[in-house]
Amino acid sequence: MSIDKNLVLKAMESVLPNPASLHEPSFIGNEWKYVKECIDSGWVSSAGGYVEKFEEQLTSICESKYVIATVTGTAALHAALALAGVESENEVLCPNLTFVASANAIVQLGATPHFIDCQNSTLSIDPLKLEEHLSFSAKVEQNKCYNIKTGRKISALICVHTFGHPAELDQIFDVCEKYSLVLIEDAAEALGSRYKTRHVGSHGKLSVISFNGNKTVTTGGGGAILTNDEDLAKLARHITTTAKLPHPWEYRHDMPAYNYRMPNINAALGCAQLENLPLFLINKRNLAEAYNNAFKSVNGLKFFTEPKFAESNYWLNTLILDQENAEEKDSILNSINEKKFSSRPAWTPMHKLPMFENCPRMDVSESENLYARIINLPSSAHLWEAP
Ligand SMILES: *Cc1c(COP(=O)(O)O)cnc(C)c1O
Repeated sequence: MSIDKNLVLKAMESVLPNPASLHEPSFIGNEWKYVKECIDSGWVSSAGGYVEKFEEQLTSICESKYVIATVTGTAALHAALALAGVESENEVLCPNLTFVASANAIVQLGATPHFIDCQNSTLSIDPLKLEEHLSFSAKVEQNKCYNIKTGRKISALICVHTFGHPAELDQIFDVCEKYSLVLIEDAAEALGSRYKTRHVGSHGKLSVISFNGNKTVTTGGGGAILTNDEDLAKLARHITTTAKLPHPWEYRHDMPAYNYRMPNINAALGCAQLENLPLFLINKRNLAEAYNNAFKSVNGLKFFTEPKFAESNYWLNTLILDQENAEEKDSILNSINEKKFSSRPAWTPMHKLPMFENCPRMDVSESENLYARIINLPSSAHLWEAP
């Protein structure tokens, strides 16, 4: 059955009384106060108390032992991959349906992304398909995994929690163990999301979060590395601050490193934002529920809801068109956007991007199929207001 576009618009209008962008920050707390404090005190950059405070708040929210704040989520991912031991000429497994930053970070280390298919129950890596793929395309020798065809070492796997919805972490972790792959969680979109009873980010040896302007919590631009490993945390701090050795005045550095530390003024914004995270999460769940109810009466599509084992932050709300309606995606996107409800397709699958089209990949038909059917809806936390 084809989709009645008027019903789609009606459902949208029943949830959103006004035009809305895809995702905007909500500044309703101490943002101005804390940022002004930075400027008044002169501590806007690499010193001042907010970075440590921001990291402390994140440690408790993410239930991670160590948190290192960075300039962007991409920088966090780049550093995390380096800390995981990814070297040039390696391959890193990466979902085919993700934001381009996941794959870019791999290339930044001179390594090659190797694309993995996704599943429709989580929109993230399909663990069964992953394992099947590795069973005939990879071999493990002395605790190292190799791509049989290219001969390259496969050193790590990036697991993305797509649109904030947790992936099948236990199963993906098991496959990583079996094939000696370091698991890195790209939880850029998933602040506040829980897998079973825990916040996402503790299955990976290292995990990252983004605080870009379009994420649930923003620092303007920013990111964080999470880990429970003390040595890795120390090294993370070191390589994100030019590997400078402590000394009252000498400039001594003991390895090539990055300038990736989050500035104090960004952390100030983040501290204020985190104070309202519980409210953002409640509002986002309510908004998702309102969409879910509104779209129940529209034939030919489904509103995506969190997997049973998870509690999602619903970073981006997602409609999935039924298979037979995939061709109507663009015209539905058109009619929703015309009404100033800013809606977007999913990211172009990685293997369709010119710089990645020759990278190794498995059969990625499900991610293509999902891309053909996904429509993301306005999702800012302030869009939902208590009736
Ligand atoms: C936003 C995002 C990133 C990158 O974060 P930035 O802070 O924008 O650099 C990485 N991966 C995913 C899945 C993202 O959504």
